[in-house]
Amino acid sequence: MKNGKCRSQIKFISRRLYLALAVLLLAACTVVTAQPDQPLGSITYRLSMTRPASHLFEVTIEVELPANSNHQGLEFQMAKWSPGRYAVFDFAKNVQEVYAATPICPRTEDLKNNQPLVTCRPLSLPVIRVNDQTWRVETRGNATFSLSYKVFGNDLSGTFSQLDTRHANFNGASVFMYIVNHKSDPVRLVIYPPAGWRIVNGRMAQPVQREWQFPNWDIMIDTPTEVAPDWTINDFEVDGKKYYVVVHSFGEEGGKRSALVSDIEKIVRAETAMWGAPEFDSYTFLFHFAADDRSGDGMEHLTSTQIIEPGALAEPGVYESALGTAAHEFFHVWNVKRLRPIEFGPWDFTRPANTRELWIAEGLTNYYGHLMMRRAGIWNESRFLRREAETINNIENSPGSRLMSAEESSLTAPFIDRAQHIQRTNLANTSISYYPKGELLGLVLDLLIRGKTNGKASLDDVLRRMYDEFYLQSPNGSYYLRGRGYRTEDFQRVASEVAGFDFSDFFARHVRGVQVPPYEEGLAFMGLRLVREQSREPYNAGIVTSPWGAGALLISNVLNGSVAEDAGLQTGDEILTLGGKRVTSTDWLSTLNRFQQGDRVPISVKRDRRTIQAMLVLGAPERFEYRIEERRDATSEQKALRAAWLKG
Ligand SMILES: [Zn+2]
Ligand SMILES: [Zn+2]
Repeated sequence: MKNGKCRSQIKFISRRLYLALAVLLLAACTVVTAQPDQPLGSITYRLSMTRPASHLFEVTIEVELPANSNHQGLEFQMAKWSPGRYAVFDFAKNVQEVYAATPICPRTEDLKNNQPLVTCRPLSLPVIRVNDQTWRVETRGNATFSLSYKVFGNDLSGTFSQLDTRHANFNGASVFMYIVNHKSDPVRLVIYPPAGWRIVNGRMAQPVQREWQFPNWDIMIDTPTEVAPDWTINDFEVDGKKYYVVVHSFGEEGGKRSALVSDIEKIVRAETAMWGAPEFDSYTFLFHFAADDRSGDGMEHLTSTQIIEPGALAEPGVYESALGTAAHEFFHVWNVKRLRPIEFGPWDFTRPANTRELWIAEGLTNYYGHLMMRRAGIWNESRFLRREAETINNIENSPGSRLMSAEESSLTAPFIDRAQHIQRTNLANTSISYYPKGELLGLVLDLLIRGKTNGKASLDDVLRRMYDEFYLQSPNGSYYLRGRGYRTEDFQRVASEVAGFDFSDFFARHVRGVQVPPYEEGLAFMGLRLVREQSREPYNAGIVTSPWGAGALLISNVLNGSVAEDAGLQTGDEILTLGGKRVTSTDWLSTLNRFQQGDRVPISVKRDRRTIQAMLVLGAPERFEYRIEERRDATSEQKALRAAWLKG
């Protein structure tokens, strides 16, 4: 693949008969891309953590080159991002102290008792930093060598890694370099935990294990791992498959552990009832209750999930949030990890992933995550319908809903999926998230299919057929995983076939376009209706204030086209007075809401070192509130359709 550029340069130059130069360039290209497809002899990753308080993971990658290889050098690369989270994080920024040496010496801890101790004095090899994410080792004809480095990690997350005095929790892409052109080679991982710390991940073949063999680097980084002295484990079995619930709590659990495990079992039963038995033998829910009000995440993997709650299990709301995340992440076992968009693996980690299908991969998973809370019996019908109405509130009150489609939102994931922006953006006015947007498209598609087929088919059937066609039945598209990926067009075709109804118009209007989805039409099939009322939230004139103002009442966003924008207010302004009265973050909204529509309200703001006087001319409230309720004329057929939908 990388040969392409070299070849075109050579053609260009030789046409001008600069033959000597062309030969030189050819030689340079050959060195870089020598034998890209022949696997290396062996690749072993050794991970140590001898100084937990430093937050420095120590990595050594040992490479045996194939016999008769003419390798002169190998390139090692840190990924720019990690699957499941699409912002670019540049993991290379935390790499330090990179060096290479030859040969590989046997480790004293690996020597068998009767083995003689051989004297082995490794010599260093040149390591050149090629670019922001790549290091090149000059192998100089040696048959074996190792590359070592340290990588800083102090974030408990589904993407980053953390080493501290409590534990090591790592996600491979932020720790392990891959070898360019050899990402598909088998790899071995050996972990050296501090004394008394135990290792656990979603690929344990035995209770105590410190060595793994993975078919390739992609599968190794799909195996988040926890190393600590005090995590605990529970298990249960469903359909002959073993499930583990590993919990590392940094706060009080309030005696909720056994309820957590049995509710997770209900979720597993509800989801496997829809999909059928999963193909793995065991699956691990890896929970952290971080109790730091900061770390929160959920990340899907092939045989495990990493779930981090910012609170303590004993605290209100944390229990339900943990279950909601578990329901979402477990649904990914099928939708995303196996049934996947065409662009989802093997990935190019030198640039952000681009896919049009995140509204299916994440959005439909959001929809089913909530629906499964109902099907598992954890939520009742009204709790589920309230949750869907909240999502409608969120999406239909966002100005970005009429500017950004579900498909465009998927393509801009690198900008919106927890991306940090140093340059100011207008994304608050222009973007929506594919999670809630896709959730609503899933809801409406499901209801339309159920309604139009009189309950004979559903979105469940669409997903099952997709899983069968693309994952189970398709020949493998690459080394990475079984089957091949799908495109939006495939999903549209299968949905149309299952429903016996052409969805082209729906996809044009609501997936590629920004028209409001036909909520009412879908809900009516279930004997439900959508009620839209003026929001009870206080009127804000288009001003969003920052919760991080530290005393100052800072404007964090001015809605485009709003009364505040008409008055000349800008993001970053600090509100001082309203109607001549000094206001604070606690009373500015109540002060504003004492005025009427049409009133002219003087406002003063501080912008840099100046105080600016402006006039708000209050308009009509712009926010609406949505509620899903039963229709008075709901028929027994409609109620039966609804019961089947909620029961699965
Ligand atoms: Zn931990
Ligand atoms: Zn997800």
